[in-house]
Amino acid sequence: MIKLKPSVEKLNAYFVNDVPCKVKLDANEGSNYLLKEGLHIDNLQANIYPDSDCKVLREKLSKYYNCKTENILVGNGSSELINMVINAYCEKKDKVVSFIPTFSMYQTYCDLCGAEYVGVKCNEDFSQNIDNLIEKILEVNPKIVLLCNPNNPTGYVTKKDEIIKLLNNVNNSLIIIDEAYADFLGDSVIDLINKYDNLVVMRTLSKAFGLAGLRVGAMIGNEELIKYIWKVKVPYNVNMLSQIAAIKALDNINLVNSYIGEVNRLREELSRNLKKIKFTVYDSGSNFVFVESPVDNLFEKLMNCGILIRKFNFNGKIYYRITVGTEEENEILINEIRKLL
Ligand SMILES: *Cc1c(COP(=O)(O)O)cnc(C)c1O
Repeated sequence: MIKLKPSVEKLNAYFVNDVPCKVKLDANEGSNYLLKEGLHIDNLQANIYPDSDCKVLREKLSKYYNCKTENILVGNGSSELINMVINAYCEKKDKVVSFIPTFSMYQTYCDLCGAEYVGVKCNEDFSQNIDNLIEKILEVNPKIVLLCNPNNPTGYVTKKDEIIKLLNNVNNSLIIIDEAYADFLGDSVIDLINKYDNLVVMRTLSKAFGLAGLRVGAMIGNEELIKYIWKVKVPYNVNMLSQIAAIKALDNINLVNSYIGEVNRLREELSRNLKKIKFTVYDSGSNFVFVESPVDNLFEKLMNCGILIRKFNFNGKIYYRITVGTEEENEILINEIRKLL
């Protein structure tokens, strides 16, 4: 076989666990509530390319994100956008700084373009010290700083004044705040894009909107920066069906808001119930909980009864990330775990 380039050769393919299961709590997907009636499209013009600039979709998104259309670039999931920005800014050996543990794809995107991923360890309780991050940034002068807030997989929430401290101390790196779960938090730094010209916020319809299958994400920044980064956007990156579906879904923001409220309530209920059966549950601002289990091999045992969660190994210790399910799903989960105790 013809060898891949060295920085890529060593990578492992991203493995998605797709065993059949009755309760899927492994990928932080939301419920199917916005487009559950399906999509009825009259006059589909599939023969022509989609709107490359996603004009209508960006207009709708700008209302939800409370910014201007010109502040938004839409991608095939925010994954595409994160990859695109890392690629656009980093040559081989350039540095990207982020806390660890965090979203594992950041490391992968760095590997793809040969950038060096510099991880700053979070505290033992998975809280993140912003001063440690700033110190590392000033030491290695990275092209990009990535902060996932709330953090995946730990659920940790960095307070806004800490992000402002980061922004006030770092002028020579692009600062990406990945707000994939910020809808649940109800807080954002989008309102700061015009104050800091090196700030980019990533959002997605994959979590709180329950539209992961559409692959629609948004990058939000000040107008000049977005126009600048437009250079590296491939044409027609968001397909026509996804644009149509997302536009339709965004007409129901009231449903999104009540769904978010419901998930937050269910998360607190799930946390309480897990604590009652001796789990360690970390505070979370997201649609998942990060836990330590009193049951060994919880992942394998739950998989055997049709429940899928995520398992992590940090410093030789096992942790689990469990997506907040529906009331019924959470009940099934708790009941199955009770049987394992
Ligand atoms: C889910 C997720 C994303 C990406 O979602 P897309 O489906 O690609 O929009 C980005 N960052 C984090 C931290 C996520 O958990």
